[in-house]
Amino acid sequence: MANEPVATKNTFKRKFPLIVVEAYPWRKHGDHPKDKPVKLHDGTLTGEGLVVGFYKPKHNAYKSCPHACGKDMKDHGSVATGLVCPGDWIVTVGEDKYEHEKPTAFSDKYEAVTVEK
Ligand SMILES: [Zn+2]
Repeated sequence: MANEPVATKNTFKRKFPLIVVEAYPWRKHGDHPKDKPVKLHDGTLTGEGLVVGFYKPKHNAYKSCPHACGKDMKDHGSVATGLVCPGDWIVTVGEDKYEHEKPTAFSDKYEAVTVEK
């Protein structure tokens, strides 16, 4: 088909219920465009992002990825909605609110849209 819409500025439309969101694929720490690096009090950069944080194991720590993505746990991130595997999408759902989606779920729920600015 000619004139298929092409995503501009990582803008996607959720098919149902219809909302327009920004979304970015996440591959490694610091990858998200709003992932300003976290600084310690002495100014040292941790490499952890403000949007996608480090996966910080607690008592029930995963020794390997429950999604079997094959990546080392240190290469995983976390957002409020849970553990982020490299390759997951980070969807902006509100002011400083982010969700993650597995690639298949993301493509089932969202389609790219062109937004006129
Ligand atoms: Zn994983």
